[in-house]
Amino acid sequence: MCFLQKTMDELPQLKIGFIGAGNMAYGIAKGILTPGDVVASNVTVSAPSKNNFARFEKMGVTLTHSNEEVVQTSRLVFLAVKPHLIPAVLKAVSAHVTPQHVVVSVAAGVTLATLEGLLPGGSCVMRLMPNLPCMLQEGALVLARGTGCTQEVASQLKDLLSPCGLVEVGPESWIDAHTGLSGSGVAFVYVFAEALAEGAVKMGMPSVLAQRIAAQTILGAGHLLRDGEKHPAQLKAEVCTPGGTTVYGLHALEKGGLRAAVVDAVEAATQRARELG
Ligand code: NAD
Repeated sequence: MCFLQKTMDELPQLKIGFIGAGNMAYGIAKGILTPGDVVASNVTVSAPSKNNFARFEKMGVTLTHSNEEVVQTSRLVFLAVKPHLIPAVLKAVSAHVTPQHVVVSVAAGVTLATLEGLLPGGSCVMRLMPNLPCMLQEGALVLARGTGCTQEVASQLKDLLSPCGLVEVGPESWIDAHTGLSGSGVAFVYVFAEALAEGAVKMGMPSVLAQRIAAQTILGAGHLLRDGEKHPAQLKAEVCTPGGTTVYGLHALEKGGLRAAVVDAVEAATQRARELG
């Protein structure tokens, strides 16, 4: 049976690799190193060119141009390249993957069945779907395990990734819904932020100030929602004074079809993720 580590005391010996040195690799590596249990020099990151290496150098991780070296030196390997590169990358390193490895792909749309088909039989493979705020350890991540991975390894990985943000383990079908809700959802929130600020500009507020206040409004509302026990409808009701400003504004939003448009947006993005898989 494969374990990442048997006890927490073994974390300093855990060797972790990243194939790909882009935004996702950076955000995940930064999160994993934040608590200080994993040793930076035990983390190896590969990419074909040095272009992306500067920010990883500051972390003190080991850098290489060899994907084979990442697999040979690491127990836990993150695949953090663009989805279309996964088959070629795995074909080149597959011979070095052993039953002791845990391989975690962040590639959107590449299924567990595809990953398992590209690796030796019985390999421990997982899919991880992060989102952009992972870069700031404010991500929302969903993890799904393949047939060769135990629940125990999934929960160890969940603990290791917890400094990256909210991490949930679930069936693979959640990955596409999570892509629509949270991966793409980040962009939906930016559209809402832009529209909020434009409304204030229309009412005479300077644009830069309106954007800053829109961002802070979304951040504050998000914290209240995430950290409290209340349903969004309850929080919304608390802001609505009878006959007051908010209920008038909410009526305008409902007339504009915001709720249906957002449901459609999550559905469309989820369907697209399924098509790409
Ligand atoms: P990115 O373009 O920032 O990084 C890709 C990295 O891969 C680069 O460092 C590049 O040099 C490297 N690379 C290219 N060819 C390589 C090869 N043959 N071997 C090793 N490295 C190679 O991309 P990203 O945004 O970090 O995305 C990486 C993965 O994460 C993608 O599969 C994407 O689907 C997934 N993802 C991204 C997001 C997001 O919001 N960016 C969210 C969820 C999942």
